[in-house]
Amino acid sequence: MLYRLRNADFTVRVFEAGDGVGGTWYWNRYPGARCDVESMEYSYSFSEELQQEWEWTERYATQPEILRYLNHVADRFDLRPDIQLQTPVVCADYDEGSALWTVGLGDGSTVTARFVIMATGCLSQARVPSFPGLEAYRGRTYHTGDWPADGVDVSGLRVGIIGTGSSGVQVIPLVAQEAAATVVFQRTPNFTMPARNAPLTVEKIAAIKADYAKLREQARWSGNGTLRVNYDEPAATAPPELIQQRYEAGWAFGGNDIVGSFNDLTTEQMSNDTLAGFLRGKIRQIVRDSQTSQTLTAQDYPVGAKRMCLGTDYYETFNRENVRLVDLRGEPIKDFTPQGIRTSAAEYPLEAVIFATGFDAMTGAILRVDIHGRGGRSLRDDWAGGPHTYLGLASAGFPNLFFITGPGSPSVLSNVVVSIEQHVEWIGEHIEYLRKRDLASTEPEVEAQEQWVAHVNDTAARTLMMKAASWYLGANVPGKPRVFMPYLGGVGNYRRICDEVTAADYRGFATG
Ligand SMILES: Cc1cc2nc3c(=O)[nH]c(=O)nc-3n(C[C@H](O)[C@H](O)[C@H](O)COP(=O)(O)OP(=O)(O)OC[C@H]3O[C@@H](n4cnc5c(N)ncnc54)[C@H](O)[C@@H]3O)c2cc1C
Repeated sequence: MLYRLRNADFTVRVFEAGDGVGGTWYWNRYPGARCDVESMEYSYSFSEELQQEWEWTERYATQPEILRYLNHVADRFDLRPDIQLQTPVVCADYDEGSALWTVGLGDGSTVTARFVIMATGCLSQARVPSFPGLEAYRGRTYHTGDWPADGVDVSGLRVGIIGTGSSGVQVIPLVAQEAAATVVFQRTPNFTMPARNAPLTVEKIAAIKADYAKLREQARWSGNGTLRVNYDEPAATAPPELIQQRYEAGWAFGGNDIVGSFNDLTTEQMSNDTLAGFLRGKIRQIVRDSQTSQTLTAQDYPVGAKRMCLGTDYYETFNRENVRLVDLRGEPIKDFTPQGIRTSAAEYPLEAVIFATGFDAMTGAILRVDIHGRGGRSLRDDWAGGPHTYLGLASAGFPNLFFITGPGSPSVLSNVVVSIEQHVEWIGEHIEYLRKRDLASTEPEVEAQEQWVAHVNDTAARTLMMKAASWYLGANVPGKPRVFMPYLGGVGNYRRICDEVTAADYRGFATG
């Protein structure tokens, strides 16, 4: 966004809470952290030189490699002079008279700006559930989303890991290799696909780079912002041999392409059941202990309704002597004691506990900033019943405030880099449009916004996604309204809608 606006001759200042660039890849330094969209797709496309120069080494890049890449981008485009690190933004107030925002920073100082763009991240507000007794626990605690930069040595320790979502799946096998004992506390079993990560071959890199522009364009107009093959036929009428063959191929290929095996897997329960059954069969083949296997296959929601995880030796790890799985459905955590974790059935002495408990997703980082718009109205109050946006880009009553990958846009249901670039382009163009016409402000019209919110909800209701208590729905945060936040209409369709709004002179936005 900085690069885009700077190239259009705007004065831009970026405020970042951390003391380095990289966002997700700066904070999530836990062992095993990797992207789960292929590296050559999970990267910027805005500069042909950049995408040709940079050499990814693995199918799914590690966190250190992605962080190196993002630092390279900051240097290559000379972004650092306009980025102010260690500067949390705490509040923002809009003044109707001047059509300017006053932005309050952590050190008590303020800056004024015509436009405020929240690039605060969908998964940047780490969340530790409130467990009784946690403050009295004498061991060490870590959150995967706020991992110490100089690493953590777990060798010889008894380690507890709470949470088996994407981060838990990545961290568990690596901790298990080092720790004396690893106790995994699982509330909800996930569906984990083998990543089948491998070094990228010179030939593969060359083939993609030769065709990069075309492939990027393909991803932009796809369902989820990747080059995944999506078969356009339903499992409902497919012969069992074809179903088996597709799933076996998907399992062998790794990654989450398996979800594209048929076109009704996210909408038809019976079709989804065929995939769930296949995946449970694979888990049972891998995991030797029958009780553990049962706990890992007790998913009570459709495949894909919670984020699919990619793992390396995830299920195999539960065959290790030093790993134990605790089913929190059978024995919920009662509290922390000074020595460890006590469930309703037992006490587990632990020298360290890792919270892989995820994030206050999509709205957490936005609402952490105390934002007041037209007439002093508060965004926190406006969104108390769930986020209201037009296209996920802006909210009525808050002029000149934009969200990158905001709630109501495909965001976390996509290759997020593709979604980020689309929003950056759209917002950049809109701001240029306003400048050209000497317009001081823009904001969604209430009617357009409410129609969009209804459309986002209807789209989700037509799928199986509402059948899981997921973080997409805010279900991981007690008291958070249950609203399906990302837009499920697909990255390409969404882009088309945004382009149409632009072409229709920003239909649904009131400018003045
Ligand atoms: C472990 C993990 C793995 C992921 N893997 C993938 C993947 O494979 N594919 C994919 O598409 N997506 C993935 N994601 C989602 C990922 O968040 C996005 O892909 C992408 O990194 C988001 O970039 P961003 O710049 O929008 O936000 P972030 O990278 O989250 O950056 C936001 C930044 O804003 C800062 N910030 C927030 N609030 C404030 C404030 N008030 N004041 C100042 N600074 C603030 C934060 O410190 C942070 O540095 C993953 C997320 C996690 C957590």
